[in-house]
Amino acid sequence: MTRSIFRWFRDISIAKKLYFTVGIMALLIVVELAVLFFSINTLSSVRAYVGGEGLWSKAQKDALYQLLKYARTHDEADYTKFLGFMRVNQGDHKTRMELSKPNPNLDSARQGFIEGRNHSGDVDRMINLFMRFHTNKYIHRAIIAWTEADEVITGFMAIGERLHTAINAKPYSQDEVNRLLAAIDPLNDQLTPLEDEFSYALGEGSRWLETVILRLLLVVAFSVECTGLLLAITVSRSIQKGLREILLSAKAVAKGDFSRKAKSFSRDEIGTLANNFNSMANELNRLGEENKEVNNFLEKKVRQRTAEMESKNKELEQFAYVASHDLQEPLRTISGFVDLLQKEYRPTLANGNGEKYLTYLSQASDRMKVLIKDLLDYSRIGREKQARPIDCNLLMDEVLADLGKSIRDSGANIHTGDLPSLYAYPTELKLLFQNLIANAIKFRHPDRTPEIAISAARDNSHWKFVVSDNGIGIERRFLDRIFIIFQRLHTRDQYEGSGIGLAHCKKIVELHEGKIWVESDPGKGSKFYFTISNDL
Ligand code: ADP
Repeated sequence: MTRSIFRWFRDISIAKKLYFTVGIMALLIVVELAVLFFSINTLSSVRAYVGGEGLWSKAQKDALYQLLKYARTHDEADYTKFLGFMRVNQGDHKTRMELSKPNPNLDSARQGFIEGRNHSGDVDRMINLFMRFHTNKYIHRAIIAWTEADEVITGFMAIGERLHTAINAKPYSQDEVNRLLAAIDPLNDQLTPLEDEFSYALGEGSRWLETVILRLLLVVAFSVECTGLLLAITVSRSIQKGLREILLSAKAVAKGDFSRKAKSFSRDEIGTLANNFNSMANELNRLGEENKEVNNFLEKKVRQRTAEMESKNKELEQFAYVASHDLQEPLRTISGFVDLLQKEYRPTLANGNGEKYLTYLSQASDRMKVLIKDLLDYSRIGREKQARPIDCNLLMDEVLADLGKSIRDSGANIHTGDLPSLYAYPTELKLLFQNLIANAIKFRHPDRTPEIAISAARDNSHWKFVVSDNGIGIERRFLDRIFIIFQRLHTRDQYEGSGIGLAHCKKIVELHEGKIWVESDPGKGSKFYFTISNDL
């Protein structure tokens, strides 16, 4: 039973738990108030009896006085007063007799107390006290004293009546009157201890009752406090416990551990939250697994593609190496004969198109020389064994001097920031800057003056350089292609070039244990970034 109540309380909603707690507290407070009300009422009834006893005693004393007076004056008015006072005692007597019956007539009992001059507001509670507590040992003692006193009063009344008869008797006997008067004192003496007993019994009773009430109130107040505290602790503990579980699981999930499940201790909101959290974690886990699969697949694809591109690059590099060496020899022969033709046979060729063809031949062989030089440069990268300290500002001066003609021709503005001194391969680094700046000039926008900026910043273990321009830009889809050798985005009619430059740059940057990449806004310009390691 207790268990099922506990389980029920554990599983109801938090709001209901709080309402229940407040409800129980309110109930206990009502109980406490009821006890208080009952106690005050009972004590007030006892007080009313003590007051009633005072009235009873006074009436009896007044009656005695009037009877003695009547014995002296023989005045009927005094006797009537005696009877009037005696009605007070008789009224209380009537009530006691009525209330002692198994089914008392309450109206009659009420009437008796009113005749006993008790306050009408006290009468009901006095009747209640009698009926409820007549078996209580103190009240019982008081009732016995009252009963005995009533018997004495009956005797007193009888003497009064006999005195009245004696005074009005013909012939009148003073001896008879004296004898009757002498019987009053012993009765009076009997009354005083009975009145005392009545008062003491009630006094003790009320003291006992006060103690009982005080204890009862303490017990109720204590149980209100304890119940409230117990319920509050139970509710807050269950909330704390549940939340702690969820928190621990949330921390585990944040660290990627989906195996820790939040334990659900109840079926209230916290329990539901724990279950929902677990479902969410499961879902996250599932999605994570799916994501992993997708990532693995993509990574595999990227690796495959990179490997493919790298092997293609290797083949091309190999080809460039072989081609550059093998082409050098026949090219030298061609240029030698072109020179010879120009020097020795110019007059012979002057007629017709001979000279024009010779010029074409000479230009083609020059272009081929440049191409072969580029290829040779490209295949020679890394030959230099040792990185050396270089002041990039000085290196940049050299680069700009070499590119002086094209800078002037294009009207380009070059902005160089403060560049660092670092360890690098000077020939290669120079070539790298040259290629990037030359491209920025070459791929300038036809409607704008080229603005080219070169700057550098420290980026952890690397120096990060950026060469930016306001040229024609590169479409997004070509961004990774341009670093592959012989990849050109334009025809030779549009822009002169071999497609070696950026592949060359990439190789140089890799030699410096760095990376190269580009960000570009077609039509607006490009930013070429590259990094160079600090630990060369
Ligand atoms: P190229 O000999 O054609 O200059 P590169 O390898 O230097 O060969 O460049 C490859 C391609 O990248 C170029 O054909 C050009 O389309 C593009 N490119 C390189 N630099 C720039 C730049 N600064 N602005 C726009 N396009 C560029």
